[in-house]
Amino acid sequence: MAEIAIIGGGPSGSMCGEQLARAGHAVNIFDEHLAWEKPCGGGLTHKAIQCFPFLLDNSYPKKLVRSVDLIASDEQRVTMSMAHPIVIYSRRVLNGLLLERAQEAGCRVRRAHVIGVDTAGEKPRFCVEGEWRRADYLVLAAGARNQLLPETRPLQRDELEMTQGYFVPETADAITIKFLPHFEGYIWSFPRQDHLSVGICGSMSAHTSTELKSHLGAFIEKHGIATTGAKFYSHVLPSPQEHTFAQRNTMGRNWAMIGDAAACVDPLTGEGLFYALRSGELLGRTLAEGCPEKYAARMKAAFSAELEFAARIVRRFYRGSFLGTSVTTRMVQFMRKSPVFRQLVGELFSGAQDYTTLKQRVLGHLGISLSQFVSSVINFEAPRVARVPRGSAASD
Ligand SMILES: Cc1cc2nc3c(=O)[nH]c(=O)nc-3n(C[C@H](O)[C@H](O)[C@H](O)COP(=O)(O)OP(=O)(O)OC[C@H]3O[C@@H](n4cnc5c(N)ncnc54)[C@H](O)[C@@H]3O)c2cc1C
Repeated sequence: MAEIAIIGGGPSGSMCGEQLARAGHAVNIFDEHLAWEKPCGGGLTHKAIQCFPFLLDNSYPKKLVRSVDLIASDEQRVTMSMAHPIVIYSRRVLNGLLLERAQEAGCRVRRAHVIGVDTAGEKPRFCVEGEWRRADYLVLAAGARNQLLPETRPLQRDELEMTQGYFVPETADAITIKFLPHFEGYIWSFPRQDHLSVGICGSMSAHTSTELKSHLGAFIEKHGIATTGAKFYSHVLPSPQEHTFAQRNTMGRNWAMIGDAAACVDPLTGEGLFYALRSGELLGRTLAEGCPEKYAARMKAAFSAELEFAARIVRRFYRGSFLGTSVTTRMVQFMRKSPVFRQLVGELFSGAQDYTTLKQRVLGHLGISLSQFVSSVINFEAPRVARVPRGSAASD
């Protein structure tokens, strides 16, 4: 590869560029904003830190949070502590750090808006500042609103979430997550070093922006969060369905998509930063090895099974009920009662426990009612409750 053009200098594009430049390729990254305060919580989980330790080991401002307040739709609460902190960055800082690494590795970074791409010819072309230019390979890392779609389809409404929120000039030490009745999404407050990112995400096919606004407004009022001087934001977030990765093309002969553009987001939690970085790294490495055709298979092995799993349970998690009460409320109730379950949810939230190995972890380690609860959400076979005659020693 003589020259690789990367459209988008967010986490996925910067990481991909860094890998390629380190391998000696000529890389141009184009981003219309460069390091900017992209609407985001900015939270990095343990798996992101494990995979990319430099995200913790640096002098850039960030906040390490070890405590999460979960609030059920009926206002029952529980606080969980996490052995591994969530590392929260302002996106301006995080994007700046990643772009700087890409530049140090040898990438050329330009502030420019790319208005079109064409992958039909021998070499892919892209249109920037009124001029069509050629590259040997095109990486599309332009995020969830990406309109540059060669040989593929846009994400549909049921593959997207809406988000709205505020950057509030206040500080806090814990993350807050609030669930809402019959709502596919949640409200969050993520504390950063000198402000909070407070927002709401909800399925685009199930909810309207007016609904989101009204839920967020009620939360802000109830919690006395001052929005004077706060900056409002809204954005979209990919929320892949089970079929999305199998059905939607994310690469061709001379191009590939990474990060949000490729829908690499956990549809249950909205976590996208780790998957953006990981997909960027994987594409960068496969390109550097000269075998870009291996990108899809490596992505599948690395994390798409995990995201498909989340897609399978997301509706049941937010809309389902267990013994007559919503799953999210039951979850909070069980967490209040069981330290073991609280620890498990803490590990899931902080990214120390994945979904695909949950079954082994749960069955045999939690009591019958908790195992049945988790099984009802996850839909793996619950342990059978042995019928024990009343009055026998085993039934006590
Ligand atoms: C409100 C909200 C909260 C979130 N909170 C979290 C969280 O706490 N933790 C987490 O892990 N994930 C979170 N996410 C998801 C996370 O923000 C994304 O998954 C992540 O930013 C994806 O990185 P990316 O590089 O693929 O895309 P982006 O970060 O969106 O970067 C795309 C870049 O492309 C540039 N660009 C776009 N179009 C063009 C063009 N035509 N020409 C040139 N440049 C272009 C943009 O300027 C941008 O810099 C959140 C998302 C939202 C919306």
